[in-house]
Amino acid sequence: MAGGGGPRRTCVGCRRTTHPDDLVRVVRTDDAGLVVGRHLPGRGAWICRDPACVALALRRRAFPRALRGEVRPEAVAALDVAITA
Ligand SMILES: [Zn+2]
Repeated sequence: MAGGGGPRRTCVGCRRTTHPDDLVRVVRTDDAGLVVGRHLPGRGAWICRDPACVALALRRRAFPRALRGEVRPEAVAALDVAITA
């Protein structure tokens, strides 16, 4: 975070680092689902608005790791629709 350039976040899919405005923030729900929201409380994971990144994150189990808890695969699949809508 040092120096200029402002905040940076890493996509859990492709691992590129970019400004938060270019990414979507995802938070885990109590029932192992996922919700999209920039200002939701709790630990968030960031991902590109790109189905390819969702697929990558799913394959790499990036969401359970980033969010420190179980995430249902179908919740990730639903995210695909949510972020590209
Ligand atoms: Zn990405």
